[in-house]
Amino acid sequence: MSEASLKKKIIAYSKSIGIDKIGFTTADVFTALKNRLKEQQELGYQSGFEKGSIEERTEPKRLFTEAQSILSIAIAYPSRMPNPPKGEKGNRRGIFCRASWGTDYHVVLRDKLEQLAAFIKEQKPEAETKIMVDTGELSDRAVAERAGIGFSGKNTAIITPEFGSYVYLGEMLTNISFEPDQPLEDGCGDCTKCLDACPTGALIEGGRLNAQKCLAFLTQTKDFLPDDYRSKIGNALYGYDTCQVVCPYNKKVDFHLHPELEPEPEVAKPKLVPLLTISNRQFKVTFGHVAGSWRGKKPLQRNALLALAHYKETTAVPDIIHVMTEDVRPVMRGTAAWTLGKIGTDEAFAAIKKAMENETDEDVLFEMDKGLQFEASHLQADKARE
Ligand code: SF4
Repeated sequence: MSEASLKKKIIAYSKSIGIDKIGFTTADVFTALKNRLKEQQELGYQSGFEKGSIEERTEPKRLFTEAQSILSIAIAYPSRMPNPPKGEKGNRRGIFCRASWGTDYHVVLRDKLEQLAAFIKEQKPEAETKIMVDTGELSDRAVAERAGIGFSGKNTAIITPEFGSYVYLGEMLTNISFEPDQPLEDGCGDCTKCLDACPTGALIEGGRLNAQKCLAFLTQTKDFLPDDYRSKIGNALYGYDTCQVVCPYNKKVDFHLHPELEPEPEVAKPKLVPLLTISNRQFKVTFGHVAGSWRGKKPLQRNALLALAHYKETTAVPDIIHVMTEDVRPVMRGTAAWTLGKIGTDEAFAAIKKAMENETDEDVLFEMDKGLQFEASHLQADKARE
């Protein structure tokens, strides 16, 4: 069978198994990406979650010596939750970003790619493949861009004409050479909506990102969140997709093509207070199957505290005091103290002062101190009201 007819068959088969878009590219070096990654590294813009060296991330043949081409796939995910539960005073909720709704996309895409690999092998027994979804060395986005899946937006997302940027990406290296597809034209033009909307200035003109400032990345860290970002994450528990929401290409885009990617409202938008003390077992049962659980429960719980601070949720004060005094993790105790200060009730300040008497961890004491510093501004505000 010729490679051209195999390509046609692969495209037809990919549609039959629910792959929404497929593109083909060569296994050549990603030269532009290589230069950009080096620059990112020098500037300290990396997230630290990257896998492999810059060479491994940009030279496909280092990962699979016989690689001739790369197949890039995209699967569309929903952007709107049907009947989202409403958060309200006394019952506040956090939110997972859209890319973490439904079953973990790594599982869904890997399954599709495995089916595709088996199909290719059936057609061409000498075919060899290597599958990657997000956690591999290659950049899903760079592959998708070169394979014509979409163009790379200034928000660094791949924007498809059909599904906007609400697509999951994965790829497969093969030892078969296929006619490559053509990349799409850049579609951003003069638009700067995503740059303007980013609350931390993480996006830099030219389609670059300082991951150290990106809220999507920061929601996944496990340490204390730096002060400057605490009041900016709002009720985000995992990820942050404002730069996608504001993009004109995502306007009215909302595809519900895969039942397994449908959000479960109580999981995608969970109540904050119960999350603070959730057991490991319960966490696994409730959140273990979503992409946003990959860093464990701690970042989500820390973010839940910050979300309660964002809402100034006075009804949660007793629960937050419990975290400040009982949680074994300093990040949780310290963030709870800061949150109490931010909420700023008399009970909250009294609890911080009392807890300081028994606290021995220096980082936590430092956060307690910061929490108490809010007292002065609260007193001033009260005075001004009198
Ligand atoms: S918001 Fe505008 S600049 Fe940003 S990715 Fe979309 S089209 Fe490009």
